[in-house]
Amino acid sequence: MSQFWSQRVQELDPYVPGEQPKNQQYVKLNTNESPYPPSPLAIAAMLEGVSDTLRLYPDPNADDLKQSIADFYSVDKACVFVGNGSDEVLAHAFVGLLKQSKPLLYPDISYSFYPVYCKLFGIDAVKVPLTDNFEIDPKDYQQENGAIIFPNPNAPTGMALALDTIEQILKDNPSSVVLVDEAYVDFGAETAISLIGQYPNLLVVQTLSKSRALAGIRVGFAVGSPELIDGLERVKNSFNSYPLGRVEQLGATAAMKDREYFDESRQKIMTTREQTTSTLVGLGYTVLPSSSNFIFAKPPEGQSAEKIYLSLKEQGVLVRYFNKPRISEYLRITIGTDDEMSVLFDRLKTV
Ligand code: PMP
Repeated sequence: MSQFWSQRVQELDPYVPGEQPKNQQYVKLNTNESPYPPSPLAIAAMLEGVSDTLRLYPDPNADDLKQSIADFYSVDKACVFVGNGSDEVLAHAFVGLLKQSKPLLYPDISYSFYPVYCKLFGIDAVKVPLTDNFEIDPKDYQQENGAIIFPNPNAPTGMALALDTIEQILKDNPSSVVLVDEAYVDFGAETAISLIGQYPNLLVVQTLSKSRALAGIRVGFAVGSPELIDGLERVKNSFNSYPLGRVEQLGATAAMKDREYFDESRQKIMTTREQTTSTLVGLGYTVLPSSSNFIFAKPPEGQSAEKIYLSLKEQGVLVRYFNKPRISEYLRITIGTDDEMSVLFDRLKTV
């Protein structure tokens, strides 16, 4: 017989992360990690941090890390919040800032964590369909005393909105919180952080998991008006006084300071993306214009995306397949090194 709490447990509907296989060496092009190592300065800082100081709690305010982010974007430190991956920063924003008197608007299709948080935190939401070309149309986002969230670039399409379009959404919605999830912004899109001084309702969330190759230490951040940031701090302090460990703070701070390495590795990824796109187009694929470290590609007429995904997996190459309406004909392929992309093309021949 089931216990009285069983129904509650069954109602919890968590996000299912992309495959992280343990038992086989795959060419891993499925979860948008960087194919390059983190900054050598970040690795050195973390190694040095593994010392007897680990007996002490970390800085609860992560002041050095916040300052390095503030310096990078030329904003005040009071405009910066940090957390355990941008997923956690988003969770704090959902519970503290996006739960308003009107439903939250977000694009359908976009990051599949958004409905999970809405359900968990009891937030009403309206899913706004993308246009036929998979675009976000700013006219569809009008909300008073509510909230709006969208990724820019969007996931899993990889397509970016121009800064003017984001500004239009902000102008149209002065009484709503507008959250721009910029997990992939460093691969060719424009950040909205330059607008935070003009729009106190704007919150921008970013991560060190992609362009700074630090998915393994889980660091994300938000930049916005001091009032919205104060809101996030209040939520954080209601859950956990120490969001990031000492080693994570050291590594993330060094990574933010190493601009040269950051530019070099994201540039390499963008170059490989353009080459990958033209090779796929040559093979008859339709590829959406990507400003991300992944591409969203539809195989030629008559070929099934699901079968290609399964065949590639059998041959040791992991890409992402979403069995969902409107996108089940597509594959999401993370940009790897040039060698990894050659393996992908080689295996595609035998699909
Ligand atoms: N936003 C989007 C759109 C993403 O795709 C991801 C990565 N899955 C995240 C946020 C979260 O990234 P992280 O928690 O690693 O910072």
